[in-house]
Amino acid sequence: MRRGGVLCQSRAEETGAILGYPVWRKESEMRDTELYTALLRLGAFWVVREVRLEVAAERVDVWIEEAAGARWCCPECGEAAPVYDHAEEREWRHLDTCECRTYLHARLPRVECREHGVRQVQAGWASPGSQFSLKMESRLIDTLRECDVTGATRLTGTSWDEAWGAVEKAVARGWARKERRIPPYLCVDEKSFAKRHRYETVICDAQRGTVEYVVEERSQESLEAYYHQFTTEELAQVRAVAMDMWDPYVAATRACVPGAEKKIVFDKFHILRAVSEAVDKVRRQEHKVLKAEGDERLKGTKHLWLANEENVPEWRRAEFEAVKGENLKTSRAWAIKESLRTFWTLDQGAAADYFRRWYFWATHSRLAPVVKAAKTLHTHLANILTYFQHHVTNATAEGLNSKIQMVKEMACGFRNRQHYKTAIYFHCGGLDLYPRVKAPA
Ligand SMILES: [Zn+2]
Repeated sequence: MRRGGVLCQSRAEETGAILGYPVWRKESEMRDTELYTALLRLGAFWVVREVRLEVAAERVDVWIEEAAGARWCCPECGEAAPVYDHAEEREWRHLDTCECRTYLHARLPRVECREHGVRQVQAGWASPGSQFSLKMESRLIDTLRECDVTGATRLTGTSWDEAWGAVEKAVARGWARKERRIPPYLCVDEKSFAKRHRYETVICDAQRGTVEYVVEERSQESLEAYYHQFTTEELAQVRAVAMDMWDPYVAATRACVPGAEKKIVFDKFHILRAVSEAVDKVRRQEHKVLKAEGDERLKGTKHLWLANEENVPEWRRAEFEAVKGENLKTSRAWAIKESLRTFWTLDQGAAADYFRRWYFWATHSRLAPVVKAAKTLHTHLANILTYFQHHVTNATAEGLNSKIQMVKEMACGFRNRQHYKTAIYFHCGGLDLYPRVKAPA
């Protein structure tokens, strides 16, 4: 648009420092330095001195300096302090300007405090020690929350080390800001790590749906390491802990949480999984026998028996209806499993009675794996019934588990255990990850 404009070149170009494009603007319009001072929202203490555009390199460099009359304080004590000198020039990567990589440059003032000596003033646009501006670091964190580290490096033009460094810093920041608090409703779950039966214990806040703690192995000590962070008074605030029927977790909770007997809730999903495994054993045994007689009725049906009935996919409904109507051991085992699901929909009195009848049916089924599973539940019944006081399940943890699974896949299995934990906290910890700076006093 030439109307009313005059041809003028950027200030940087006037100095002959760079290859610049001439820009059309009205005399009353902003200069590039004013534009960037406004865009960067630098506050009263900083101004942009110079802007350089290198078109071929797709790069913008912005030099920031102190505004006239800026006053500084000691970053240690907040007392006003005179400028002592200026540190070496530093560079920060900022958000791109119209797809040109944009870098901020400044020499940060150092002040001399009467009490603390010479101290460097913090930049208003970056957290200490970061090579990114706050906006760029936040963008990087946003991107990392949406995709894996390699994807984030491609989208933001950063290196793997820079992107992973942002993850680690964000998690450290989140942990430093996290309030000390033991959630009243906990879920404890194990999660396999890499292959070879290595496990992590994952402790979640059942109400907030966040991972509170990840610790190696699934031993009594693993869970105790979490509990030991809190005092007995704090642990007494715990109302319920949902978990699998896994003795080391039970022992840890009994050892650490006052009143644990009434607070441990064996989780519905784990219980149903145990019974489903029994159904699968019955199917495998029966299929073997039938197959030997040339009967292939159970072939390819594994997942039909394991899914909740309503989750059997539409296109396999008819097939499933037919096979479950057959006089098969597997369909009997399946019916026992499905009927157990009703248990959690009842009130406590009715549930205890329902379990008695279910237990009689299961233990008289002459299906050895089902009998065994039913007996395990019977042994643990007291802490299965606690569900009706607390109504807590590992549903949260299960939801988080699928998220953790995604985290794992994104990082090709995380052979590095510490990286795996860090990524879980980053994606599932509910932490306040973003950088902020204190406004100048
Ligand atoms: Zn001071």
